[in-house]
Amino acid sequence: MGREAGRTLSTKKELQETLDRKNTVRAFLSALIHVLTIPVFILIIHFTGMYGDFSAKIKIYLYVCEGAQIVFGIWGYYIISRNEMDKRAFYNNSCFFVTTLCTVVMAGIDRFNTGSFAFYLLGLLYAALVPVMRRGIRSIYSALFAVGSIVSVVVAKPAGRDIGDAVLIGIAAFIACAAVHNYVSEYERMGINLRAKTLTSEKDPLTGLMNRRGLDKNAAVLWPYCSRTSTMVGIIELDIDFFKKYNDRFGHPAGDRCLKLIAKSIKQSARRSSDITARTGGEEFLIFVQGMSEKEIVEFAMKIRGSINDLKIPHAYAGVSNYVTVSMGVAFCVPNAANSFDELYEEADKALYTAKENGRNCVVSGNKIYGRMKKGLGTVISL
Ligand code: GH3
Ligand code: MG
Ligand code: MG
Repeated sequence: MGREAGRTLSTKKELQETLDRKNTVRAFLSALIHVLTIPVFILIIHFTGMYGDFSAKIKIYLYVCEGAQIVFGIWGYYIISRNEMDKRAFYNNSCFFVTTLCTVVMAGIDRFNTGSFAFYLLGLLYAALVPVMRRGIRSIYSALFAVGSIVSVVVAKPAGRDIGDAVLIGIAAFIACAAVHNYVSEYERMGINLRAKTLTSEKDPLTGLMNRRGLDKNAAVLWPYCSRTSTMVGIIELDIDFFKKYNDRFGHPAGDRCLKLIAKSIKQSARRSSDITARTGGEEFLIFVQGMSEKEIVEFAMKIRGSINDLKIPHAYAGVSNYVTVSMGVAFCVPNAANSFDELYEEADKALYTAKENGRNCVVSGNKIYGRMKKGLGTVISL
């Protein structure tokens, strides 16, 4: 499957999920409104004697509607509070069906008994604004609207003129419902595409890792969070050794393939959901970790160094190794008001510089060098 097709599919799924989520809130609110307004309506009928002989039947009908709306209110509350995504569509559709039936029949009864269009227009408004639902379901919904109209016709046995009104209003409701549905879907789709585009602009196209912009955006969110929770964070800055020479010897396309392999290896090592991996420059990468001690961060950097060495990508320049190697600078801290991501990044950069000075293919953290030592800088600890 092509990338575009894959993207369209996931956009479709995301769109459906967004609509389902919003529809649950709409359905829940409409149930709530009905729970509150039906008793008022019953009281009005009771005290004004509206609808004359029909009042007993109508009242029973309204009690049933009230009961159904209470059920939908409680059901909706549970679905929203537990975020049960898979049950949302079923809830939304059932709630819309039943509520529409209640509204339309009520509107019909009102129309045929008082000659007023007020309730019908309210039902129309409800039909247009509330049910933004799946395409197939919408057809059943409009059929239901028609059934609602027929039921009102049967109950009230109106004159031909009223039947005409019911049919016309049913058609108007269907058109309004389709128009609102299309408008809302289009609006949501645009939002999803915009978000996808933003994501693309935060991604490095060659390696699929985050780019500098994405890293900065994530760091801006994570830094205050880790500060509040006093979580230790660490930066591992990684630079490929003698990469210019690699390109000179094997060519730029081979250089790109090498970058991809290294990015893949980094991604496979940094598997925690809280790990952030980014390509910050040409042959420079960054891994941002949280919740690890100094020892764990250094061990982690050494593990990444090891897995890149294990790739055994041949390198023409054998000054350090016959294979492609990397140097790393590590810095860590507990974020607070006095420090910043940029300062920590600078510290990791200095450590990386020391690693290069030391002869490359090693990890530097503070004044300690791990993995390989050339000039006798700091302490060498082999892990
Ligand atoms: P050092 O060990 O000191 O890091 O040496 P180096 O040669 O890796 O460092 P230098 O900064 O001198 O060169 C980096 C090279 O990375 C220069 C450029 O040819 C290469 N490079 C940068 N971006 C890309 C890229 O996107 N694709 C390829 N193939 N090469 C790249
Ligand atoms: Mg570099
Ligand atoms: Mg380099």
